[in-house]
Amino acid sequence: MNNRKVRVRFAPSPTGPLHMGGVRTALFNYLFAKRNSGQFILRIEDTDQTRYVDGAEDYIIESLKWCGIEIDEGVEEGGPYGPYRQSDRKEIYKEFAERLIESGNAYYAFDTPEELEAMREKLKEEKNSVQQYNAITRGSMKNSLTLSDEETNKIIDSGEPYVIRFKMPDNYDIVVEDIIREMVKVDTNQLDDKVLFKSDGMPTYHLANVVDDHLMKISHVIRGEEWLPSLPLHVMLYKAFGWEESMPEFAHLPLLLKPSGKGKLSKRDGDALGFPIFPLEWTDPKTGDVSRGYREDGYFPEAFVNMIALLGWNPGTEQELINMRDLTFSFDLNKVHKAGARFDPEKAKWFNHQYLIREDDGKLEGAYQKILKAKGIDANNSYVLRVISLIKERANFVSDFWDQSYFCFQAPTEYDPKVVKKRWKENTSEIMSELKKQLEGLEMFDHESMEKAIQDFIEGKEFGMGQVMNPFRLTLVGAGIGPGVLDIAELLGKEETLKRLQAGIDNIKRD
Ligand code: GLU
Repeated sequence: MNNRKVRVRFAPSPTGPLHMGGVRTALFNYLFAKRNSGQFILRIEDTDQTRYVDGAEDYIIESLKWCGIEIDEGVEEGGPYGPYRQSDRKEIYKEFAERLIESGNAYYAFDTPEELEAMREKLKEEKNSVQQYNAITRGSMKNSLTLSDEETNKIIDSGEPYVIRFKMPDNYDIVVEDIIREMVKVDTNQLDDKVLFKSDGMPTYHLANVVDDHLMKISHVIRGEEWLPSLPLHVMLYKAFGWEESMPEFAHLPLLLKPSGKGKLSKRDGDALGFPIFPLEWTDPKTGDVSRGYREDGYFPEAFVNMIALLGWNPGTEQELINMRDLTFSFDLNKVHKAGARFDPEKAKWFNHQYLIREDDGKLEGAYQKILKAKGIDANNSYVLRVISLIKERANFVSDFWDQSYFCFQAPTEYDPKVVKKRWKENTSEIMSELKKQLEGLEMFDHESMEKAIQDFIEGKEFGMGQVMNPFRLTLVGAGIGPGVLDIAELLGKEETLKRLQAGIDNIKRD
């Protein structure tokens, strides 16, 4: 790495909600900045007015905040190289496009859409494999290279629409070293004369992106692999501007792949397989369609970030649980893989489970109380804390708590018929009555005392453990689920346990 001060940018276009892959790009930029005591910049690339989506910019900012990705310079924070929204920098780009015209690296083009189409048709008919505006075709099109200066100026002065195109040189090998992809080599004969400045007075992505990276003194461009095809043009732009010396280093991140490992991960995969593809819920401003988000699905931001960080990178050890702070110490761009990273939705849940079991019970209690309140249940804090410590091992999300513990807050009103059929035999009512007697005699109603009493009772009567414990569970829970029966009984307390036992004896009927 060179000795420049590290300055990286995340440069999303506000064309919709941020995809998980976009969050990973932002995260890797952020981690790289932190690791190298650098700056992380958020630049909004909104020069394509036709693709602008209301609310997308706010969504991007809120997503980064939720993930704990702190922005050093950006649209809200400001900074010495602002403004950080490209539509607010509109005036800057024209001048740079004109500089390229002056140095002979770009030209005005006046072709109408019909003329462009006719050119493509002609090339197709002539069986040319490429049909593009390039070193071969530009000489027969309507542009400032084929027209005289006088004619060119006349057209411009008349207010006719025009674009500015890059004059891609022919027969030149562009060679650039990418931190992840290693050497990238492209022959300019493969490339076309891309539009740099559009007839609507706005720059295209390529011009604005390169000019801004230069003006904002970006040292490393870390972005998704889908931008790799733009790299040769960008390198040529740096050369044309005479900025080769200060050209950033490049790192193109691997694609996120579908759970099957085949093909790029898309929103459709999430919809089909039932997982979010966006960090936060998103409501499409046009259709009103709502897409689920990791936040609303109950993920902890720390778990989401940890999971995302390991898509295409690992610290080189077996360690999987790494919090943001440790990530900022261990992240290494040189260890990012070239191959696509398969996304596994089950693993995502596993990460959340790991963070859930490590989470402070007090915080979990606060979150669970909200769910209980919404169900009209008023439970005291210490009881809810005890419930949580009993069941959290069995949950991936706080929203799983209810299914794992509803019986701690309400006595069964019915009994799962399948479990009744399997567990409630002819003599079960009798066994339960005897069990009840044993438990009534206990002074201490803790797990250990119950266990001892039940063991003695079982041995004395020569019952099997399952013969007693399974129907006992059914009376307490109403089903065959939940943590250890004696843990449930201890939690419910003597009075409630005996009450439920008796209700079971009275109400559970074999068909
Ligand atoms: N605006 C581009 C995007 O939407 C940025 C690509 C880049 O980082 O150069 O991803």
